Amino acid sequence: MTYKYINEDQIDVELKCTICDEPFQSPMNCIICGNTYCKTCILQWMEKQKSCPSCRQTGYHFQPVISRVVLNQLNRLLVQCTLCQQINIQRSNLNDHISCTCPKQIVNCINNCGWRGYRENYQQHLIECRQSQVFEILTLRWSKIIFILILSVLLYFTFR
Ligand SMILES: [Zn+2]
Ligand SMILES: [Zn+2]
Ligand SMILES: [Zn+2]
Ligand SMILES: [Zn+2]
Repeated sequence: MTYKYINEDQIDVELKCTICDEPFQSPMNCIICGNTYCKTCILQWMEKQKSCPSCRQTGYHFQPVISRVVLNQLNRLLVQCTLCQQINIQRSNLNDHISCTCPKQIVNCINNCGWRGYRENYQQHLIECRQSQVFEILTLRWSKIIFILILSVLLYFTFR
């Protein structure tokens, strides 16, 4: 988990799953009793219990919650990124934050140089990475030229 809820005890209990006690993730609704649970929670529950946790109706009677009101409320819940400690990120924006902007997310250099580090250090690394690549290309070129020179000198003396 890369985030935690801000003021979690103030979040409406209507938005919390009674299995995990956290705000719903992909909420699913029992069509018989109307109770809602997280998708993963109810799937795990059903594997063992085979019935709805509240109405005890056997068999799988759940469908995804489609109510915009509920989904929007869940999306707007404020969380804190536990990697960079930034607060007040909407829960629905957290994935974007992690994959695009979080300075403490670990990223890999796209140049296949093997560098791995915090995103906040990546720009600096890129500058150094480009320099060392240019340097490598230049030394490679020069060593080729020197190799060809030596080879031609050798050939010259051998076949003279
Ligand atoms: Zn749950
Ligand atoms: Zn039920
Ligand atoms: Zn972050
Ligand atoms: Zn690199």
